[in-house]
Amino acid sequence: MDDDPGAIQVLRAALSAYRDVRFATNTSDAERLLRERPADLLFLDAEMPGENGFEFCARLESDSSIPDMPIIFVTSHDDLAFEVRALESGASDFIVKPVSAPRVQLRARLHLRLKRQLDQLEELSVTDPLTGLANRRAFDRALAHEWAGATRGARALSLLLVDVDHFKRFNDALGHPAGDRCLQQLAGALRSAGRRATDLVARVGGEEFALLLPDTPAEGASRVADTVLESLRRLAIPHPDSPTGSVVQVSIGGSTLPPDRATGSMAHAELLSAADEALYLAKEHGRAQAVCRTLGGPR
Ligand code: GH3
Ligand code: MG
Ligand code: MG
Repeated sequence: MDDDPGAIQVLRAALSAYRDVRFATNTSDAERLLRERPADLLFLDAEMPGENGFEFCARLESDSSIPDMPIIFVTSHDDLAFEVRALESGASDFIVKPVSAPRVQLRARLHLRLKRQLDQLEELSVTDPLTGLANRRAFDRALAHEWAGATRGARALSLLLVDVDHFKRFNDALGHPAGDRCLQQLAGALRSAGRRATDLVARVGGEEFALLLPDTPAEGASRVADTVLESLRRLAIPHPDSPTGSVVQVSIGGSTLPPDRATGSMAHAELLSAADEALYLAKEHGRAQAVCRTLGGPR
């Protein structure tokens, strides 16, 4: 982004090897482009009429609806005060005008590589390596986020906790690697049961999984639970040592926050503990079944 079309010409030529490069000559156009599609890297002119580069940079930093990206200031200033101000306002780097193609290309290569590595780390930090599902950290984060959204917007939110029945005996009979494969198959079944784009399927413990179902009332949640139980019957993974059946089964504890039912004192931990209690009942009542609860009771 640069208000000088000459500078944009030079950048365009320097970045011609990259497939998807977009240009803007003012910050409101730049913002529109970033909202249309996030960027991996932004070259930003520091001095412009109207909102300057520093102000724009600070605004992007504080706006969580625009994904973070490295920002490289392009400037005619070559002094320490500028360098400090640029880096303090959240930029990753800066280059001095007149812009030279090799300088632009080297910076682009470096910062795109760092961005890719950071994205990969972020992905790893929220993924369970065995199943590829969201991990406990991602689940905790999503639960807090969805709970806030549901109570703010008076929308329903449901949670299913899924625990494999007699899984210790499965491991003891067939070995740990077979247990791991079983968990992977189960993960696949859960993924197809939580089909909506907003559903989150997570592995929250060794043989314990969670489905977080935004905008889903109690009937919907219990339908998803039935789908899980049914898909396990169809998967029919033999369990040689289960007192409750010949194939691997799960018990499910469900809880639902109905729309408009949250009170100020309620916290997302209540959804979790209600599902946990329901899971305990499902185990008590003979396993291979779902028990669901509704928070707040009937009106
Ligand atoms: P219940 O029906 O009461 O849930 O019985 P359970 O045996 O499933 O429950 P318990 O909590 O006693 O044992 C869970 C077992 O799950 C212990 C361990 O053998 C197994 N397990 C936990 N994590 C993993 C894993 O990552 N891989 C494998 N293969 N097994 C695991
Ligand atoms: Mg367990
Ligand atoms: Mg278990």
